[in-house]
Amino acid sequence: MATGSLGTGVLAELWESASDGRVQCTACAHRCTLDPGQRGICDVRINVDGELRLLTYGKVSDSPLGRPGTVDPIEKKPLYHYKPGTRVLSFGGASCNFACQFCQNHRIAFAKPEDLELRDVSPTAAANSATDQHCESVAWTYNEPTIYAEYVRDGAQAAQNEGLGTVIVTNGYFTEEFADLLAPVLDAANVDIKGFRERPHVKYMGSRLAPTLRGAEYLVDRDVHVELTYLTIPDLNDDPEEIRDFAEWAFGLDPDIPVHFTRFHPDYEMQDRPSTPIQTLERAHDIATDVGLEYVYVGNVPGARYSDTVCPDCGKTWISRRGFEASIETDLSEPCQCGREKDVVL
Ligand code: SF4
Ligand SMILES: [Zn+2]
Repeated sequence: MATGSLGTGVLAELWESASDGRVQCTACAHRCTLDPGQRGICDVRINVDGELRLLTYGKVSDSPLGRPGTVDPIEKKPLYHYKPGTRVLSFGGASCNFACQFCQNHRIAFAKPEDLELRDVSPTAAANSATDQHCESVAWTYNEPTIYAEYVRDGAQAAQNEGLGTVIVTNGYFTEEFADLLAPVLDAANVDIKGFRERPHVKYMGSRLAPTLRGAEYLVDRDVHVELTYLTIPDLNDDPEEIRDFAEWAFGLDPDIPVHFTRFHPDYEMQDRPSTPIQTLERAHDIATDVGLEYVYVGNVPGARYSDTVCPDCGKTWISRRGFEASIETDLSEPCQCGREKDVVL
């Protein structure tokens, strides 16, 4: 069965056979059960004659010109405690398993793969492009990496072979099977938590909350460096009680986990509310700090307070930031002047 210009893709690994020629995908928490010919919610995984196939293996939504990928500061993911001050080569693909009404990448995240101009980039070519462009790691970002897990895993393996790191930016809505597949070759992840109440999560994101939290827990349990983003949206998830519940969950995961409260800007189908006031972000910062989290940041705000990394014990600045530019103020491989180990992956 051909599927537009995508052919029948490649055989996936994260799936199980079900009865009557159906298959169940085990990559993300939707766990779609698919009849022959049917695609999953993500539109890139399909049952072809009783096998689950991935239509977008090796296909990225990148400009067809120049070297593959986009060079970013690692701070832009955001990752503040993983290789600070280095460059990362970013890739994204087509479609998503969420339906966020405020998606900033809706052009690719809501498109069917056959409706986008996708570029063929092998895992090795992705890693080589990162080396050529003086990047220390490769990021799978822009759309949800879970849905093309097997390609991301192979890209991460190729990066590791080149001495590079791999990071993902994810909504966390993946299974333990996905975590087992990826964790051995994954260095860091930013997990985007989009609120801490079940009903708005279903209404505005098209997905349940609990699996996203479990996704972050799976990676922490597997010793992947994890940072959390909380996109703070006015009148949707900015209630102080909700922020406190989120912060208490994050504290339970790891008091050292970096947390980024980022600013919402109206986008896509959510134009009915303003950008997040800075006071709201600073209030979220104060609540999370009060709960005991040690590294809490405010993001998406040029010149924001709370963008530097400071020692939680003595207040010495380890890394200062202006926008996405990081200045390393101290030897990060040495303990702080107060004797505390610096919680930064170099
Ligand atoms: S990745 Fe998720 S949405 Fe896509 S087919 Fe698998 S279970 Fe369904
Ligand atoms: Zn100190």
